[in-house]
Amino acid sequence: LDASDWRAAHGELISRWSEIADLASATALLHWDQETYMPRGGIEGRAAVLSSLAGVIHSKLTAPELADLLATLGDSRAAAEMDDDERTTVALAQRDVTRATRLEPALVRELAAATSLAQAAWAKARDESSFEAFAPHLARVFELKRRAADQIGFEGSPLDAFLDDYEPGTTVAQLETLFDGLVAELAPLVARYGDPARRHDVSPLRRSLPESAQREFAVAVATAFGFDFDRGRLDRSAHPFCQGVHDGDVRITFRAAGEDLRPALYGVIHEAGHGLYEQGLPAAFRRTPIGDAASLGIHESQSRLWENMVGRSESFWRCFLPRLQALAPGRFDDVDVRAAHRAANEVRPSLIRVEADELTYNLHVALRFRIERDLFAGRLEVRDLPAAWNDAMEHFLGIRPTDDREGCLQDIHWSMGAFGYFPTYTLGNLYAAQLLAAARREIGDLDAAFAAGEFRPLLDWLRRNVHAIGRRHKPTELITAATGAPPSARPFLDYLREKHERLAAD
Ligand code: ZN
Repeated sequence: LDASDWRAAHGELISRWSEIADLASATALLHWDQETYMPRGGIEGRAAVLSSLAGVIHSKLTAPELADLLATLGDSRAAAEMDDDERTTVALAQRDVTRATRLEPALVRELAAATSLAQAAWAKARDESSFEAFAPHLARVFELKRRAADQIGFEGSPLDAFLDDYEPGTTVAQLETLFDGLVAELAPLVARYGDPARRHDVSPLRRSLPESAQREFAVAVATAFGFDFDRGRLDRSAHPFCQGVHDGDVRITFRAAGEDLRPALYGVIHEAGHGLYEQGLPAAFRRTPIGDAASLGIHESQSRLWENMVGRSESFWRCFLPRLQALAPGRFDDVDVRAAHRAANEVRPSLIRVEADELTYNLHVALRFRIERDLFAGRLEVRDLPAAWNDAMEHFLGIRPTDDREGCLQDIHWSMGAFGYFPTYTLGNLYAAQLLAAARREIGDLDAAFAAGEFRPLLDWLRRNVHAIGRRHKPTELITAATGAPPSARPFLDYLREKHERLAAD
């Protein structure tokens, strides 16, 4: 094998990968369309199209020709001549191909069918608040995922097999330590700041505003943060989401609630945070293995950083309260920065994760992680899940669901077989605080910049240290390189303590 051989093979790898990435882009756009503009009657036809596309992608990933190319490129003499990005490209492609090859096609089909039925059953069971109707479906999905874990392979918990997909390199053993520490430190903070006697008044932001005005305000905020509407757009959907088609076309959605500004505003900021990441992925590596996001946790760190750490800061309201007052004459005249800041940071233990505040949110995730861990360790049966859930809610947050709709049926994830997904939300919160603390150390007084409407210095820092990396680093390496220390809960806990002490003293 000489140098020209591996160069040709590398070119062929990129060319094959481009086709796979293009099919993934088409899939992404069809998903976006399904949640926004597709007529109701399109569901069945669309499911068939998506299923066919998934099949084509899988067959391209598992093609013998691709395996041969990777074998050629895996040769040590070839590897020695490659530069870092070329070697990383080969390693990431090999990783994706290996994972795609491990699952037996029959199991993939069984899982697709079972999760599709389970999602429909979950929606109905949630409407009726009846776990019994969903339990057999969940048991079936769990059983298939347990078999999938065996086929993928794992060393510690079977759950590790899926965690490695969402958050490469992360294990259940690591997460157990992390959540134990986090829960121990969050519990007294929640007890202190979640006390009804200390509760902040939310009325300064819970006011009716026409949808068009809510949209205009949210777009102004997203634009100021740096979301590029020439390479992205905002539409309505039942549940807000961000879908990157590629770095030049990033779709975010929102839903306005007439009586309260907060869900639309913070929903748009959250999705714009995801969108900024997608728009900042390295364009030169579009359609290659490097050009994607590093992990779900890193993705969530970007949405949470802009939503909570920037969007719920005092300096944010210094910048944007006057614009809100100008946009809705008379509606917010009695509100000052302090009142808006407090209203954006209410702490209230609640039953629903997606509505939870920054302090209680990770307790919702800890609960789900422990249930998943116990299911996969054989310590918990599916049928006992509602009782385990309700007991844990009472233990963590001091409140108990009165029905399954507000308990173990609230999230769609398990019906989709997405076990191991929830912890990435908490990892995102922790990464966000650590990244922002590092950015503050390097850039200086970010609060003065935010108050003056200058968000570019922060975005540029994130572009350099997170977005432009793409998938070159695993999450732990990325955070370590960006902040000078491995991921830790400390910056997040410091951030929460400092914020809530100040709010309480105010
Ligand atoms: Zn998110």
